[in-house]
Amino acid sequence: MPSEFDLIRRHFTRPARHTELAVGDDAALLAPRPGMRLAVSTDMLVAGTHFFADTNPEGLGWKTLAVNVSDLAAMGAEPRWAFLALALPQADEAWIAAFARGFFACADAFAIDLAGGDTTRGPLTLSVTIVGEVPAGAAITRGGARAGDDLWISGQPGRAALGLAALRGETGLDAIHHAEFVNALQRPQPRVALGLALRSLASAMLDVSDGLLGDLRHLLECSGTGAIVEVGALPLAALAASGADPALCRRCLLAGGDDYELLFAAAPRHRAEIDALSARLDLPLHRIGEFTPARERLLLREADGGLATPAACGYDHFA
Ligand code: ADP
Ligand code: MG
Repeated sequence: MPSEFDLIRRHFTRPARHTELAVGDDAALLAPRPGMRLAVSTDMLVAGTHFFADTNPEGLGWKTLAVNVSDLAAMGAEPRWAFLALALPQADEAWIAAFARGFFACADAFAIDLAGGDTTRGPLTLSVTIVGEVPAGAAITRGGARAGDDLWISGQPGRAALGLAALRGETGLDAIHHAEFVNALQRPQPRVALGLALRSLASAMLDVSDGLLGDLRHLLECSGTGAIVEVGALPLAALAASGADPALCRRCLLAGGDDYELLFAAAPRHRAEIDALSARLDLPLHRIGEFTPARERLLLREADGGLATPAACGYDHFA
């Protein structure tokens, strides 16, 4: 049996790119660049709650870090350092090596140093604390949306939830769409470049982890505004083209979790710049509604013009 220290040395110790002191001492030493604020976030993934225990470990390694990177993207912050706390039921070296491969693939994609962590025996639980930098005063919070702002969403929300439905055998998709949606679920792409570029454009932002409408409600609460979502402007066509049930596609788009797209508010004068940004990043950015003065009132405008309050949506672990 490898010891805890062998495991750490073998699988979680890599040369650091920009860390004064990383894995191996009692604490890491981080040197933020002058004028920067540290943006810090923690996310935990628990087997049976957030993923199936038999999930491919390499994909899991990617996702464990990627969901944390997404939180920094949503602040307009640049990810720099990660800390990894692992509870493992046993020292399965093949599993740990594959997990580490996925984790470091994501770390390399975003130039993140693994600067420390903790490793212990227990029910499979993966927790990352991520630390990033953002210039003082430049972070984009959830609280800045104003009535009259446009409501935007990046990419193709709904794919991850369709991937989950596909894994449960609920969709009857062809092999290509099955693979595409499962990949979206297991290998989310955090929108870091978008988050950084939106520093000067977005008035409020968050990443969609628990469903578009549910997370939008959080943003409305923090900003003290309402919103109208235009159903006709939602990117539903690409999902429906997969052949999945249209009602399921709509539900996945509006209330499915795990997409890690960015939802943001921006003044209408920025529309042309945001469209140009979409072209530059080769990432669709959809303008799907507007913010209103009606505090926390969320409405859907259907294609026929009718306004309706959406049913409860989003995921709550304790509801
Ligand atoms: P301590 O007993 O002081 O908490 P540990 O034995 O837990 O130290 O950890 C030794 C070193 O290895 C520390 O620098 C810690 O940050 C690092 N470390 C432990 N587990 C991990 C991990 N899963 N990934 C990265 N670094 C880790
Ligand atoms: Mg420890």
